[in-house]
Amino acid sequence: MSEEFLSFIGDRMLTVMYFDLSRYVIAAGLMTGALLLFRGWATRKRIQKRRAVRKDYTREIASSLRTVFVFALMSLAVLGLRETGLIALKLETFTALTIIWQTVVIVIAHDAYFYWMHRALHHRRLFKPTHLHHHKSRTPTPWAAYSFSSWEAVTEAAFVPLFLLVTSQLGIAYAGLAIFLFLWHMIFRNVIGHLGVELYPAGWTENRFTQWWNTTTHHDLHHSSGNHNFGLYFTWWDRWMGTEHPRYHEEFRRVTRAKQAAPDAVAA
Ligand SMILES: [Zn+2]
Ligand SMILES: [Zn+2]
Repeated sequence: MSEEFLSFIGDRMLTVMYFDLSRYVIAAGLMTGALLLFRGWATRKRIQKRRAVRKDYTREIASSLRTVFVFALMSLAVLGLRETGLIALKLETFTALTIIWQTVVIVIAHDAYFYWMHRALHHRRLFKPTHLHHHKSRTPTPWAAYSFSSWEAVTEAAFVPLFLLVTSQLGIAYAGLAIFLFLWHMIFRNVIGHLGVELYPAGWTENRFTQWWNTTTHHDLHHSSGNHNFGLYFTWWDRWMGTEHPRYHEEFRRVTRAKQAAPDAVAA
């Protein structure tokens, strides 16, 4: 391998790592800042009485940095596959309509991929080497968004290249901007799922116009009590497959109707 080629790959790796790292730091940092800014409100809307400790933050951030590295390798693979022509990814301008439908399609496809991959990782043979690390966060924080073992990071990162290989085979050239929007949506929804504080208003899970959209309580229950609520963005798959937590609505009501005493005050 020539020195020139290696330095070209090195430069690209730095660029994609910077993009993946900044998404994680910006999303988790902004949400942490918002929780600090609205501390009183956030304390009332805390889902669990238990608090994450320093060790949890250290583990979540360290393993998220490893995930950023794996994501960057995968982004590099996508760019390489684009050059070979196996992946059709266009960086030119597209109409707003194309960007919208392509973003919606990839988000829905990722929700399905995540649900089934996540259920597979909960299989007793796979759980320990792959997904146990993520579940060390019994009380997740925004920094747990990318807290995966190396194996899980690979299965998480594999979605974009697999999706683009399939769409390219179908003759669809994806727009770079749609992937960009998908990645930002993904990190924000992921951070919100691990926030520990419910953002959505009372009644959200029982209103037919909003109940299909996942809440923080939905994923928090997955962390605190295991084998339910595997979905990422929407409640559809858990409902279809009968894996929605039986106390989901009850817990959401408890968290969103808590007016006075903060959970910590009750616990103390
Ligand atoms: Zn899980
Ligand atoms: Zn999680």
